[in-house]
Amino acid sequence: MSYPKSSRPREVYPFSGGELVLYKSARLEKLYIELTNRCNFSCRMCFRNNFRGEFGAMPDRVLDALLEQLKTLPDLQEALIGGIGEPLLHPRFREVVAALKHRGAVVEVQTNGVLIDDDLIDFLLREDIDRIITSYECGAVGHVQATGLKDTISRLAERRRTLRGGHSRANHPRITLQWILTADTLERLVPEAREMVALGVNELILSNLLPMDESMAADSLIFSPQTGRQDRVAWKNRGDILEPFIDALRYRAKVARPEFHLRTERRCSFVDSNAAVIRHDGAVAPCYRLLHESREYYQGRWREVVPQLFGNILDDAVHQIWSNREFLWFRHQVANKLYPSCPDCELRDGCEYIADTTADCYANSPSCADCLWDRQILICP
Ligand code: SF4
Ligand code: SF4
Ligand code: SF4
Repeated sequence: MSYPKSSRPREVYPFSGGELVLYKSARLEKLYIELTNRCNFSCRMCFRNNFRGEFGAMPDRVLDALLEQLKTLPDLQEALIGGIGEPLLHPRFREVVAALKHRGAVVEVQTNGVLIDDDLIDFLLREDIDRIITSYECGAVGHVQATGLKDTISRLAERRRTLRGGHSRANHPRITLQWILTADTLERLVPEAREMVALGVNELILSNLLPMDESMAADSLIFSPQTGRQDRVAWKNRGDILEPFIDALRYRAKVARPEFHLRTERRCSFVDSNAAVIRHDGAVAPCYRLLHESREYYQGRWREVVPQLFGNILDDAVHQIWSNREFLWFRHQVANKLYPSCPDCELRDGCEYIADTTADCYANSPSCADCLWDRQILICP
């Protein structure tokens, strides 16, 4: 619905001695849906290792509310069913896919792949799902079903070929591989990725290992004294460690690659894509990082992650939550980078703010100032 400018719903905030007016918008364009944060694996690198609280799956009353609310999201373009947990474990997974496709959204599912059988492949192709993202980490911190996953991808690609023939949408759904880079598996990246692309993978999303405990820090490729990669010049002079990989796959697969050290630019893909994340209990968060109570280990220190939840879809519609005063301000602050930068702050060692995500020295609450996603060091689909 469009309003004359003067009567558009708005919020007014005190700002720099004056007032800042933010217009409310219904442009919620992307939903991340966590059907469950349970998993049939227990990878060492998984964020779930540091989650506090019970794991759970989306109960019927939350799911019913979500399906009902999908009808009132005029700008919804994309939905990703996944998150940190295995969505195929949810008994109503297929119903959610069908409802989202019926709604006309681009639908993506993020899975470890082990529960994808021929029947499910046929269902996903029938529903014209748009992207299947499987994780693949062949090292000691990842999961160990590498052979099974290769077989699954090959069957998926084969059925896709049979269905589409020489059609222009021959690569629909796209098959995306998400790979967590580690020092241990870097050497295997080129041959493994080549093999996966030959099997039918169209796209790779590379990300870094965020250590789940101190012992994993040395396996992370993130630039930091605590990972042994403290000499930035030497690290850079080794050349672009991903160059052989990008070269090997040039023109054959799309690659999203992370940064390894801090750059000036900050960009939050969750806020930039006008997204909201719906947790399995119906709570609404701005991103995966602020979805669960957890803790992070970076630069040799632990930081408590306190969830930032702007409402629950059992109480309010998700588009109302997305437009509420607090969420509107939060997105404005993130989109315009109105927060400090902790990772390269010289006061960091003595600063108490970085003990958790609740505040920073600009008086923001919560704070994104120590986030590695907005540095593109960690990448989510
Ligand atoms: S498969 Fe994914 S969600 Fe499951 S334990 Fe491993 S990293 Fe976590
Ligand atoms: S919150 Fe602390 S570490 Fe972060 S920028 Fe401010 S003073 Fe530096
Ligand atoms: S900057 Fe980081 S913590 Fe803040 S909303 Fe984006 S992903 Fe979440």
